[in-house]
Amino acid sequence: MAVAKMAQVVGTERLGPDTLLLDLCATEPLGFVGGQYLILDSRIVLPSGKAVKRAYSFLTGDAEQRSFQLAVKRIPEGLGSAFVHGLTAGTDILFSGPWGKFCPREGASGRTLILATDTGITAALGLLRATSFASLLPQAQLMWLRGSAEYFLPDEFVQRQVPAACGEVRIAAIPAVGHQDRIPQARAILRELLSRGDLAQAFIAGDGAVNQVLFDDLVAAGVAVDKEQVESFFNMPKKSA
Ligand SMILES: Cc1cc2nc3c(=O)[nH]c(=O)nc-3n(C[C@H](O)[C@H](O)[C@H](O)COP(=O)(O)OP(=O)(O)OC[C@H]3O[C@@H](n4cnc5c(N)ncnc54)[C@H](O)[C@@H]3O)c2cc1C
Repeated sequence: MAVAKMAQVVGTERLGPDTLLLDLCATEPLGFVGGQYLILDSRIVLPSGKAVKRAYSFLTGDAEQRSFQLAVKRIPEGLGSAFVHGLTAGTDILFSGPWGKFCPREGASGRTLILATDTGITAALGLLRATSFASLLPQAQLMWLRGSAEYFLPDEFVQRQVPAACGEVRIAAIPAVGHQDRIPQARAILRELLSRGDLAQAFIAGDGAVNQVLFDDLVAAGVAVDKEQVESFFNMPKKSA
């Protein structure tokens, strides 16, 4: 069973109507690598007996192991995100982790694409800010696709979190989650990114429905990407897929 860890909410900031940025300080160093996530225990238990626990990616880099940030989008009628949006400075939270393998590969080199959709930008920023990603930064390209400029984190905020050494940052709009044109447009953007022909590796995070198709396209294009370099936040691909 995962060991419960504790952190105190040091501060909160609203970055939009449905986006909360949390500053947290853990009671002990977390030992995480940029790109990983924690599982927050809301301590809410459903009538079925199931505990409401939700995954949130570390937004901040791993050079600092006790103070960290999370950014959480409020999902209509969602219990976990509603719990987070109710947190105030001074409150303690319980969580487990760090979890996940969405982190830099030892010995990797060359041009790296990090493509995030929607809230997946948190994992992308955490990865870019990982200490062990530093050597890949000059040839790294961050592409963030979201429904509109009002979605989740403001563009300027995202730009500010990207390390200065990062080769290229692009932010573009695609149709909203579930729209029939979303996947075709995401694929067209990936095709354009692939047309340069020198992509050594790729990471993708966010909408699982988009991830699944882009993963297949990357494999077909011969880019080094394995399932661990794909982090789905919602629309989870079926286990057998
Ligand atoms: C590895 C991992 C890391 C994550 N990191 C973050 C993060 O850094 N920030 C963050 O805000 N969320 C993140 N999430 C999503 C988070 O865990 C919850 O799913 C989200 O907060 C909704 O929980 P809820 O209880 O409010 O709603 P629920 O009742 O659990 O969700 C309602 C529905 O909304 C879907 N959903 C979740 N997120 C979205 C979205 N962005 N757009 C559309 N539908 C969505 C859920 O899959 C579900 O079907 C992450 C998920 C995973 C698996």
